Amino acid sequence: MESIQAVKGMNDILPGQIEWWQKVERIARQVLEDFGYREIRTPALEKLELFSRGIGESTDIVEKEMYVLEDSKGEKLALRPEATASVVRSFIQHKLHADPLMQKFYAIGPMFRHERPQKGRYRQFHQIDVEAFGIDDPMLDAEVMYMLRIFLERVGLTGVVLHINSLGCPECRKAYRKVLQDYLERYADALCPDCQRRRHTNPLRTFDCKVERCKELLEGAPMLLESICSECAEHFERVKSYLKDLDTPFVINPRMVRGLDYYMRTTFEVITDRLGAQNAVGGGGRYNGLVKDLGGPDLPGIGFAIGMERLILLLQQESEEQRRSPQVFVAALGEAARQRAFLLTQQLRNAGLETEMDYEGRSLKSQMRRADKLSARHVLILGEEELARGEIQLRDMMEKSQRNLPLETAAEVLKGICGGK
Ligand code: ATP
Ligand code: MG
Repeated sequence: MESIQAVKGMNDILPGQIEWWQKVERIARQVLEDFGYREIRTPALEKLELFSRGIGESTDIVEKEMYVLEDSKGEKLALRPEATASVVRSFIQHKLHADPLMQKFYAIGPMFRHERPQKGRYRQFHQIDVEAFGIDDPMLDAEVMYMLRIFLERVGLTGVVLHINSLGCPECRKAYRKVLQDYLERYADALCPDCQRRRHTNPLRTFDCKVERCKELLEGAPMLLESICSECAEHFERVKSYLKDLDTPFVINPRMVRGLDYYMRTTFEVITDRLGAQNAVGGGGRYNGLVKDLGGPDLPGIGFAIGMERLILLLQQESEEQRRSPQVFVAALGEAARQRAFLLTQQLRNAGLETEMDYEGRSLKSQMRRADKLSARHVLILGEEELARGEIQLRDMMEKSQRNLPLETAAEVLKGICGGK
């Protein structure tokens, strides 16, 4: 009999893979709970109206990506495409706002979007979702992004950039909407069919278009960030200044609009250049009107979601690269140094460190090039002068620092730094 396959774009997570998931979830719980967030679990299925009202009718998620179904009584339901609307619903339904200890939540679980499956993009995927209610101060915006950075550092992700923007408030957006619509009108014929429509329904969404021609046309568009009101500008200034106080690097990206309508003021994304078009590892922002729009009290909110598949893909790629590269490369100049380097290389390997050297006595430049190609973290350089002094130079290629070590104990020191087997 023919065997049954899983639904396209929905993946099994097997032993061997699950350990990554467990590690990421464990660290997420640790970090988030240290910052005062408490876990909440909401159903995968909700009333359709929650998302059409919460996310916005004219967003890609609601227009194209949602799994909608009808139960036997004819009630319209949807598999959740994201968690914020559900957490807000639960927050309101259980009147959690009355309890001062119930203002910060996190949720971990599957989300569903009907998109074209590809690397880093699936139909069932998982998010770590974080939401905080009741605080409008920009200090919280900065803290939330700082927490995201700390979490990513703890799980070991490197090479990502935090993009931030301000989408202003509904007031500044109203004026800008007209300015942008006038601009888009001039290029109306050249826009893709989606953007032709967005031009009327939700012009800001055109910034989210993935079509090259539309992206080019939007290069010259007026920026919302330049026309936000003075209160929103002041809020954004303070967010930036707190981020600096927290040593959290960021770039300002005035084109980032995010895919959900509920955002206002601060929005942010963590971007990688190692997953092709799927370049966002996580993103979020402030949503001050949402709790009220969904029938709750007028309380501000801010949150973000991390895509677990993308995060784990990146962590795996990184560990793969690290596994292939030697920890130490030994470069030597001159015959006597080369012989000593040969001994040292064996000592390092004996100490449990993956070590490479140059056997052919090439120039220092070409040896350094090879070390770089192999992506060795540490390079030891032994020239004749160092040899005469009984020293060797150690360069940390990641931290871009260097210092001299006694040649005799170099293997021991390196073992201490790298942690040999
Ligand atoms: P993209 O622009 O890549 O479609 P998005 O803006 O739709 O992302 P969000 O709604 O902000 O994504 O969701 C937060 C995170 O969830 C994303 O940064 C991403 O890591 C992840 N994510 C979103 N959609 C998918 C998907 N279909 N498959 C896997 N991960 C996803
Ligand atoms: Mg999307």
